[in-house]
Amino acid sequence: MTKIMIDAGHGPETAGKRSPDGALREFNFNRAVAELVKKELAAEGIVVSYAHDDQKDVPLSERTQKANKLNVDAFVSIHANAYGSGWNSANGIETYIYPTASKGSQLLAELAQRSLITACNRVDRGVKKGNFAVLRDTKMPAILIECGFMTNREEAVLLLQQTYRKQCAKAITFAILAWVYRGKK
Ligand SMILES: [Zn+2]
Repeated sequence: MTKIMIDAGHGPETAGKRSPDGALREFNFNRAVAELVKKELAAEGIVVSYAHDDQKDVPLSERTQKANKLNVDAFVSIHANAYGSGWNSANGIETYIYPTASKGSQLLAELAQRSLITACNRVDRGVKKGNFAVLRDTKMPAILIECGFMTNREEAVLLLQQTYRKQCAKAITFAILAWVYRGKK
C-alpha cells in the first residue's frame, strides 16, 4: 500500500503570501491543488494524508513529524512562488529537493517538473536545491513544487483559475503515479 502525504504550503492565517493586488492568497491555491491531487490519487488506490489543515496554520515541525510518524512513501509540498512583493517579470515553474536528496527525491522531482511543464506550458526553471524544513526534516523522498509566480501578472491570473489548478493537479498526480509504478527509486 502506497502512502503519500500532500502538503498545501502555509495556512489560512499565514501573513503575506499573496499577489500584490491581494486577489490571490497562496494557501487558497495550494489547498485547492492539494484537494484535487488527493482525489485523483485516492481513485488510484493510494492512501493520501494532508500535512496542512484548512482551519489553522500547522507548524512545519508538526508537518514533518506527522509524515515521519505515518512513514509515508513520499512528501509533496505544493506552493505558488513570489519574487519580491510587487509585480515583476519573474515567471515559470520550479521544483525543489534537499541539497543531499536521495535518488528517490531526485526522480520524483524530475518527473513532477517535466510533467508540470508539459501540462501547464510555462517556463521551465528546473529542479533546484533548497534547504527547506519540509525537505530537510522528512525521512522519505520529499519535493517542494512552485507552480508559478503570484508576483507575475499573467501567472497570478492563471493561479486563480480552476483550469490551471486542474492542470497542475493532473501533472502532479501523473508524476507521483509514474514514480510509484517505477518502484519509488
Ligand atoms: Zn509558499
